[in-house]
Amino acid sequence: MKIGIVGLGLIGGSLALEFGKQGHELWGSSRSAATCQIAVDRHVVHRASPDLASLAPVDIAFICTPIPYVLPTLKTLAGILRPEAIATDVASVKGAIVTAATELWPNFVGGHPMAGTTQQGIDAAQFDLFAGCTYVITPVKQTQPEAISTLESLMQPLNLTVVTAAPEIHDAAVAWISHLPAMVSAALVTACGTPPPEELQLAQQLASSGFRDTSRVGGGNPELGTAMAQFNREALLRSLYTYRDRLDGLIQLVEAEDWSGLFELFQQARVWRVPFVE
Ligand code: NAP
Repeated sequence: MKIGIVGLGLIGGSLALEFGKQGHELWGSSRSAATCQIAVDRHVVHRASPDLASLAPVDIAFICTPIPYVLPTLKTLAGILRPEAIATDVASVKGAIVTAATELWPNFVGGHPMAGTTQQGIDAAQFDLFAGCTYVITPVKQTQPEAISTLESLMQPLNLTVVTAAPEIHDAAVAWISHLPAMVSAALVTACGTPPPEELQLAQQLASSGFRDTSRVGGGNPELGTAMAQFNREALLRSLYTYRDRLDGLIQLVEAEDWSGLFELFQQARVWRVPFVE
């Protein structure tokens, strides 16, 4: 299949590497000419240009730009792609994109790979980023069934699980397990940066796997963290308010020296965590 990838960064570059392994023909496009050249030199794609018009021959175009550029990119592609070509995206939010995108291009289907690292750009592209992950496809009632089945059939060989969800349900769910953790983690890291110098220096020296795990999602791509909040604001605020209530409750337990209450909270957390991670 002729596959176009717009935005040759962590997700776009990693998808291109996987599709290349599957024997597809790859047309890349990215904002910067230097990135396009690197992507060709490293055999991430077969050809690449910042000019979106170069994607005219593709059967399916993956828009892997930062969230704010998905719709503007699709608008340009709508004047370039063949009418039967499919367009899809990988953005971490769907409600703000899918309906508008389907109006721009009826053969659009939204997607979101639940995988990532703290790195960004073409240097971050890697094989096996999606192995074992979940790929969410987010159709609306106007979505063409062939677009869904084509996207599913491209994804299935990548050793991942495909699930389908309405855009709004997707956004509500990822607010809890992706966007809230990113915000909480960013607040945690910035709180930990505040102690006086001697205390701070020792804390930095002692920080180990626990801090690495809890700080990872807050220490990643600032552009993505901001866009998650901007484009999924209401669902994120709901989860943040609930989190704030839980944190206040925890503070009250410690202030009251209610150790059995705190024990119960940790016990509940241990049980509730399992279905999210097993
Ligand atoms: P990224 O590593 O920063 O890659 C995006 C690339 O797009 C940039 O490196 C940039 O490349 C290029 N770009 C920026 N603006 C562009 C434009 N207007 N036209 C064409 N190319 C443009 O970011 P990412 O993490 O791959 O995120 C990309 C998308 O994946 C986002 O929509 C995000 O929500 C989604 N996503 C991210 C994760 C994650 O954990 N990171 C997970 C799932 C989904 P040059 O400037 O070098 O050309």
